[in-house]
Parts: sequence; structure tokens; C-alpha cells
Amino acid sequence: MASQTNNTPHLHVAIIGSGPAGFYTAQALFRARPDIQIDLYERLPSPFGLVRSGVAPDHQKLKRPIQLYEQIASHTNFNLIANVTVGVDLPIAALSQHYHAVVLAKGTESGRLMNIPGEHLSGCHSATAFVGWYNGHPDFRDHVFDLSHENAIIVGQGNVAIDVCRILTKTVDELRHTDIAEHALDALAESRIRQVYLVGRRGPVQAKFTYQELKELTELSACILQTSAEELILNPASEAELAKRDSATRGRVRNYETLTKFAIESLSTKPRRCTLRFLLSPIKLMGNQQLQQVVFERNHLTGPVSQQTALGTGEYETIDCGLLLSSIGYHGTPMTGVPFDSAQGIIPNQQGRVLDHD
Ligand SMILES: Cc1cc2nc3c(=O)[nH]c(=O)nc-3n(C[C@H](O)[C@H](O)[C@H](O)COP(=O)(O)OP(=O)(O)OC[C@H]3O[C@@H](n4cnc5c(N)ncnc54)[C@H](O)[C@@H]3O)c2cc1C
Repeated sequence: MASQTNNTPHLHVAIIGSGPAGFYTAQALFRARPDIQIDLYERLPSPFGLVRSGVAPDHQKLKRPIQLYEQIASHTNFNLIANVTVGVDLPIAALSQHYHAVVLAKGTESGRLMNIPGEHLSGCHSATAFVGWYNGHPDFRDHVFDLSHENAIIVGQGNVAIDVCRILTKTVDELRHTDIAEHALDALAESRIRQVYLVGRRGPVQAKFTYQELKELTELSACILQTSAEELILNPASEAELAKRDSATRGRVRNYETLTKFAIESLSTKPRRCTLRFLLSPIKLMGNQQLQQVVFERNHLTGPVSQQTALGTGEYETIDCGLLLSSIGYHGTPMTGVPFDSAQGIIPNQQGRVLDHD
């Protein structure tokens, strides 16, 4: 045990959540006060949050921080208390009484809803559930994803959307040597999906994915990338965004150059196709219990440079599909006994300190 210094009492801190936020908090506290006692509570049987169950199974290198977390966890004054859901198994008030400080590092666990008619249809899921399923997260392991349809749509154009697209379009041989869960590999081996649409409400310059992720989509052995020349035409504000000279723009320029290379009809014989579509917002999902079609409204961009928003044009397009995965961001979930701002999906706080109910 570390010894007490300057007669100051041991500080005893509880951290809720064993993802990166929880572990880096523990690291910072140990650096500031090596004699501090830390109990880290985790609701799942195993630690590391989304580094374990979010990061794509074919991106093993990105899981390297786990080595550091294991080092932090080996500190004599560190306890991991797994399989305990704070707010359910253990009231937050009880923790507050027994610790000098309680740190909430519980992540944002649910996918944002699209809030459109038909979202309840079978075949419509959040990317959160799909990612959890292929990563073996206990909450999602038993979910069933019907991969028997030819067309799938992913709504959203961030890196999570690209991860999901890659998993749907890689061959079993490409996936076999990754960290993918066995049940997901078996199901994907039977997949009949041939066409994946990756749809964004704004244009190619505003898409959130990084160049590295986009590049990987161009390198798949059995899937060709495609874009539409018409949707790559930029308005003056988007041209100005692309002409900026900051580091974020360099990535956007590379994205745009890559996308333009795939705007011609390809003669590829690859059996799968991933089509990036821009300036489309889903407004309605259709089907009789099972999802069959998605109606999109075409958008145009409006507003000043770097703050452009998508505005519906009143033109519509319908795409057939049996599987839709929405990947439009994450939303926190409330914890009993802790204030919660349900509109923003966050714990209200001022510079990290939780604000009281009133
Ligand atoms: C699909 C996906 C891919 C990603 N890929 C990358 C990537 O390649 N590179 C990158 O840098 N970032 C990536 N990220 C982002 C990164 O994973 C997150 O930013 C990071 O994990 C957030 O850390 P966190 O500690 O806040 O939350 P989390 O990692 O979500 O950890 C929160 C932990 O708290 C636990 N918890 C929740 N509620 C309770 C409770 N009541 N009691 C006890 N425990 C609780 C949860 O079980 C979880 O273990 C990805 C995210 C996703 C979703």
C-alpha cells in the first residue's frame, strides 16, 4: 500500500464507467495523488467500454490503449468492481456518502433516433445495436439482424457508419482474422446483401468520415465504391469550405478527390457495391411490419460557409431496402438519482461539475 503523505487523509474516489474516460480519470488522479484509493464501477462483466465493444473488430491497433488501462488497473490502490450498475444495483446517494468524490464516466449508450414514421418496423435498427452485436456486447449479442435482403441503407456518414458499411461488405475471409464475434461471423457468412447505400443529409464536403476510413472502403476485395457525379457538384459556400487552409480541410480535400474518382459507372465485377449518397434526409420508412422502402427528401444547403445546414427541396426519392441502420450520433441515458437533460442527452454540468436538479 502507498503510504500517507503530510498527514493528509487518503482520498477515496468512485469512478462510474470503465471506458477511456474512466481510466484516464484514474490515471490523472494517481498522478496528482499517488496515495488515492480508486474504486471503478462497471455495469458489464468486463471493462474498457467502447474500446472493447465499439471500435471496429478489424481495427485491432486502435484497441492498444487497453494495454495502458491494464497498467492503470494494476495500481495497488485501484479496484475494479464489475457487474454493478450504479443507479440500479447501487444508489448513487450511497456512493456519495462513502466517497470523497464520485466521477460519472458512463459514456453515451444509446443511438439517436431519426424520429420519423416507420422507425418501429422490423429491419430498422440503430448502428449502436449492430456494432454491439458484431462486437459481442452482452446487451446486443442476442439481437437478430435479417441479412437476407439485397439492399441495406446506412443513414449517417461518420466513421461509425463507415465501420458498419465495411463489416457488411467485407468477405468472411476478410473478417475471419479480426476480433469479430463468432455469431456475427456466422450470420454474415450467409448475408445476401449486395448493395449498401451510405446516405448523408449534407454534401460531400460536410461528411464527417475521415480520409483513412474512406480509403479503406476503396480497398475492399469484394465491394466497389460508387458516388454520383451530380451529388458531388459544390455550391459556392462548399467550394469556400474546401479552399480553407486548416488541417481538417486537408482531410476533406482528400475525401473529395477520392469521391470524385468513384463518380463514374464502374465495370467492376465485384459482387458488392457501396454507394455514397449525399443531400438526402430519410422522412418515412415503409413496409408492412417488415421494412421495404425508405422515402428520402432531397436537400440543398443553405447558410454561411462552414455553417451550412440541409433544407428540404420538396423532391422525393424512394429506395428499396430490407435493412436500415441509423448512425446519426449517440445520446446519453439517464441514471436514477442524477440530474439529466433529456433534450441534449447529457448530465447538466458546469466545467464537469454536476449541476443540481434545481
Ligand atoms: C462504433 C464505434 C467505433 C469507434 N471507433 C473509434 C476509433 O476507432 N477510435 C477512437 O478514438 N474512438 C472511437 N470511438 C469512440 C470511442 O469509443 C468513445 O469516444 C469512447 O469509448 C468514449 O469513452 P467513455 O469512457 O466516455 O465511454 P464508454 O467507452 O462508452 O464507456 C462507458 C462505460 O460505462 C459503463 N456504464 C454505463 N452505465 C453504467 C452504470 N450505470 N454503472 C456502471 N457502469 C456503467 C459502460 O458499460 C461502459 O463500459 C468509437 C465509438 C463507436 C461507438
